[in-house]
This record gives sequence, structure tokens and C-alpha cells, in this order.
Amino acid sequence: MAEGCLTMDSRFAPLFEPLRIGPVTAPNRFYQVPHCTGMGHALPQTLAALREVKAEGGWGVVCTEYCSIHPSSDDHPYPFASVWDEGDVANLAAIADGIHRHGALAGIELWHGGSYVANLATREPSLGVRSMPSREDPVQSQRMDRADIRRLKEWHRAAARRARAAGFDIVYVYPTHGYLLAEFLSRSLNGRRDEYGGSLANRARLFRELLEETRDAVGERCAVAARFSADGHGDPHLTSEEAHELLAVLGPLADLWDLVIGDYEEEMGSSRFVEEGALEARVRAVRGLTGRPVVSVGRFTSPDAMLRQVRSGIVDLVGAARPSIADPFLPSKIRDGRIDEIRECIGCNVCYAHDARGAPIRCTQNPTIGEEWRRGWHPERVPEGRGSVLIVGAGAAGLEAAQVLGRRGFEVSLAEREPFPGGRVSRESRLPGLAAWARVRDHRVGQIARMANVATYYGSALDAATIREFAADHVLIATGARWRRDGTGRWHAGPIELGPARVYTPDDVMDGIRPEGRVVVFDDDHYYIGPVIALALAHAGASVRYVTTAGRAGEWSSHTAEQRRTQRGMLEAGIEIVVSTAVVGFDGGTARAECVFTGRAATWGADALVLVTSREPEDGLHAALVGSDGGAPDSRVVRIGDCRQPSIIAAAVYSAHAVARELGRGGDRPAARDRVLILR
Ligand code: ADP
Ligand code: SF4
Repeated sequence: MAEGCLTMDSRFAPLFEPLRIGPVTAPNRFYQVPHCTGMGHALPQTLAALREVKAEGGWGVVCTEYCSIHPSSDDHPYPFASVWDEGDVANLAAIADGIHRHGALAGIELWHGGSYVANLATREPSLGVRSMPSREDPVQSQRMDRADIRRLKEWHRAAARRARAAGFDIVYVYPTHGYLLAEFLSRSLNGRRDEYGGSLANRARLFRELLEETRDAVGERCAVAARFSADGHGDPHLTSEEAHELLAVLGPLADLWDLVIGDYEEEMGSSRFVEEGALEARVRAVRGLTGRPVVSVGRFTSPDAMLRQVRSGIVDLVGAARPSIADPFLPSKIRDGRIDEIRECIGCNVCYAHDARGAPIRCTQNPTIGEEWRRGWHPERVPEGRGSVLIVGAGAAGLEAAQVLGRRGFEVSLAEREPFPGGRVSRESRLPGLAAWARVRDHRVGQIARMANVATYYGSALDAATIREFAADHVLIATGARWRRDGTGRWHAGPIELGPARVYTPDDVMDGIRPEGRVVVFDDDHYYIGPVIALALAHAGASVRYVTTAGRAGEWSSHTAEQRRTQRGMLEAGIEIVVSTAVVGFDGGTARAECVFTGRAATWGADALVLVTSREPEDGLHAALVGSDGGAPDSRVVRIGDCRQPSIIAAAVYSAHAVARELGRGGDRPAARDRVLILR
């Protein structure tokens, strides 16, 4: 494999200048802000390895996710870190030690969830500035009295001391994102009549006291940081003028201000809805107020954009969560002049989605994230191997496999039926809002183009005979999946009644077909494809009725923080949304549907039906090669990606990576299990 030029472009030198943050010094300007991992306190070794790899990759500061200070703040089933006791200190110390091994600073975000959490695991009462409902459970918080406030402050001080004992360098106070301290700041929620309610100074009193007390607790060993909104929390709560006033008044009490914005769905918006650098104007507006170093995020993946942030003085440190997940070695690649090796985040929010599912993190671009400890996968190092491999299909799976096997030293032949690579990511990236999906293809195509041992054959549809003739040591079948045309999916166990014409699938739309007139889009898939297909047709002039068995449009995208914008965008495009309804038949002129609860029937005149229900694996080639019993477990023919298991793009990349990394290494290697063991 060709090595990139190994000298840093001196333009980027400002990104590698150290920066003093109170009593500690960051070695450079790359700052991994707190981000959730779906691991929290439950998977300490898995988490420690993930954070360490970020530091190894050059991030000068690496932070934990939100870290609960006390059992009265338990976000179960959402995984969260905790600093409740000595056991937590030991586990957190492993994280801090791993970060320190690479010369980076370790940050910890102390957190109390307030009314937002339901404390399902600890069964402690949740605490609020007033008694109000939790995020999603039928639980209200206990209204805090003065004794509760005193206790909270003790817990916070104790947590800060434990954080210091665990070795952290930067300790956060966190008055944002709707949690307890944000409740106190809120004009609408905080109706207290004592010194903690009323005027802005009173509402901010608890925040101020925690800043001061955290500093006392950590002494001269650690910096104190505050994660705060540059534009308030929405006018009923904290106006942007009030936020600015607080930044000016409280500025000197923190050593670092980690600036976010009030709208979390915008702050961590997906590329479908939010551009790179979206926070810039709001951060710039408050930049000078604090008199302290500032860090902020913007899903920055381009080194030039990062450089501009620092050079133009918008921030002192470039904050990143997703770009550091997609490429933990992003800073090193800039430092070493390997910019073309950066794996750019595509802004899909699949990383965030799995925290919401209570599952460990995964990433569309970086299959190794979260697998550093469990499987021993390093994002930049792969074991050496020898032999020849034929890969059939150059979608996300085939390309990932080719890249990994090429790096390992195999002789790789990658055959693709279409004249271009990318499979579904190429096709989907032409749909509204999905252009960034092409980065999955472009990164891998760029990498394998530099590998002399990887040959690509685009425009080559292979059959079983040709594959056998090829006589490669290993064959990976990565032929993908096709959307079904018969309505089978979640709701319908088998085909529905359909006439012979005017029934389409997302594949047809991706092939450029645009049915006209009154089009029904039936979404039983519930993620982004149904809404995006509906939009593509509406943009082409069709009158679209979107029908889903779910309760909302693109329901699963609530996990990727996209659902509200999805539904809003569809409504604004004039799409009629019919929820909790299944299409049960279409005769070419009339679509029939039923309510999923009552079975009540509806009929609509329709000129076309698009079925977004489920996908059928294209595994015929695999079956032809291995026979109907699937072959021996060590068969040299293996299927990967969607042709094995249709799923999200991240799963195809992961499946390919796993097979390619282990190929020729002697069978399945079980993943390690991270758990607390009972000592006898
Ligand atoms: P995945 O997500 O698993 O990578 P994709 O659907 O994105 O799946 O990609 C599968 C790719 O395989 C497509 O680009 C398709 O054109 C290609 N393909 C399917 N059958 C063959 C075949 N017989 N020979 C070569 N390429 C094939
Ligand atoms: Fe970026 Fe998507 Fe990876 Fe998250 S999962 S880091 S949004 S590419």
C-alpha cells in the first residue's frame, strides 16, 4: 500500500499548539467533547479502550460521556457513566490512565439528570426544581427543598473529589440539555420564591455555586469546565440574551467553556438536515464574553474547516464527537500529512441511535469503534495475511472487505456488476438529503486505488462458473439485497393483493423511475428510506400519500434525532401522512388500507404504489456456490453485508470488516464479554 507523504502541512501548525486550560495544558487543539457510547458504567473495559484509542489517535483532550454524580440521577435504560463510589473511581481511573498513556488530558462531565430521568434502576426519587414528568415514563420528580439543594451540592462536591482521585484533568459542571441545572435556569419551570428562583442571578445561583465548589473540591490539580448554551434554552426557559449575560458574569469561574446550543436536535443534527459548522455564528457571537478558552463542535471533518475555526478565533479548541468516532486518528492523520486517509463522518447519527437503544456504539464509517477491547480491533492496524481473495459486489460491504484485505496484504480482486462502485450507498446518495452517504464509497475507493494488490473490475457481473474458474483462495459474496415488490415485511407475513402494473420499489425510484399522479408510498420499514422516497416523488411533482404502520413518519429516526424534522419536511412538501395504517392491496387504480388497531378499511384512488416494506437478500450466487446446506463452516466462500443480512449500512460495513479481518486466521474468535464478576 502506498504511504501518504509523512510531513505535516505547516498551515495546520496552529492546530498542534498546546493550550493552557487553567492549571492543565492540552497538548493540541483537538478536543473530544463528552459523547455517549452506549456503554457507561456497565462496560468499563470496553469504554476505557475506546477512549484510549482516541488519545492514541491524537485527540489532545478526551472526555467521558455524561457521568452521574449520585443514584438519584439514573438514566436507565440509556447507558450512562457514574461516579457514585470507589468502584466507579477504579473503573474511571482505567479510562483516565488510558488517555494519559498517550499524553492527552482526560475530562469528565459531572451530571445530574433532574426531572428528565426516571431512576428506573435505582428506584430513588428523581429531583426537580418543581415536580414534573420525566422524559418518557409515568414518573414525576420530587420538588427539591432547601435540604435537597444542600444535599445535591454535597453530592456534586464528592463527585468532583472522586473525579480528581480517578485522575481526571478537567471536571465539568453541566447546566444544559434540559437536565437539573437547566431546570433551575428556566424562567418557566423555576417558580421558586427563595434565593434559587426569580431573577436570573437567583436562577443561576446553583450553577454558580457548583462552579465555585467544584473548583474548591478539585483544587489546583484540575481545570473546571462548563458546558453551556451559546443561545439559551429557548425563550420560555433562558433567552439568548440571558445566556450571554451569564457567560459574561460567570465566565471567569470556569477555566474552559464548552459551548453548545439550545436545540439539541440541531446541535447534533444529521447531515440530512444540518450543515457542517452550524453552530458557528452563535458561538462567534459569545466568543469574547467569557475571557476563557472556548471549545465547540460542528461535525467538522475537513482540516481546513477546523483550522479556520481556530485561526479566525471562533474557538480555541476544535470540539468533536462524531468526527472522532468516525476517525479516532483524525488528528494524527493531519499531523502526519495523511489527510486523504481521513474517514469522514457522514452525519447519519447511527452512533447516537444505538445509545438510545441501550446498545454499545457503532458507526457507519468506522466498524472498529466499540470493538477495541471486545474484539481487539484497532482502527489503524490489521493483522497481516496472505493469499488471494475474490470479492463479488462493490457496495459498502465489498469495498470495506477489499480495503481491509488489501491492507492485510492479500491479493484482492473486486468485481462489480455495475460500471461504478458503491452499491446502495451510491444509489441512495442520489436521494434527497443523502449526498453524504457517498463518503462511505469515496473513502474506500480512494484507499484501495492506492493499493497495488487490489484490482477492481467494474462492469463485471460474475456467475458461479466464472467464480469457480477464478480459483481464488477465498471468495466473499457481497451482492447486497433488493427491495421486495410484494408487500411482505413487518406487517404482512406474505404477499399482498396487487394488480400487474404500477407497483414500484425504492430500487425503481433509485433507478430514476418517478411514478406520476397520485402515488401511495407504503412504509413498513420505518427508517429513512420511506420518507426520502416520498420526498423524491413529491419533488418530482407527484401527489404523495405516505402510509405507515408506525405512529409517526420514519419512526425509527427518532433514535437518530431526525424524526421531527423528517415529518415536518414531509408536511411542508405537501405530503399527506397517514399513520397506524397498512396498505393491503392495490389494483392499479385504487389502494386499499386498514387501520392497524381496528382493521377499519379505507380506499384511495391511486395511480401508483411504492412498497417500502422489506428487502430480499441477493444470496443466489452464494447458494449456487456452497449448495443448499450452506457449506462447511470453514468454507472458502463467505457472504457478507446485506446479502447475508439486510440491515443498515453500518451493519454491512461491520460484517465485511469482521470477515476480512479474521480471514485465514483460524475460525471464529469469540468476542470478550465485559461484565462485573461475583468474587467468591
Ligand atoms: P452491501 O450493503 O452489502 O454492500 P449493496 O447492495 O450496497 O450491498 O452492494 C451489492 C453490490 O453487489 C451492488 O453494487 C451490485 O451491483 C453488486 N452485485 C450483485 N450481484 C453481482 C454479481 N453477480 N456480480 C458482480 N456484482 C454484483
Ligand atoms: Fe458519523 Fe454516522 Fe459514524 Fe456517527 S455513525 S460518527 S454520524 S458516520
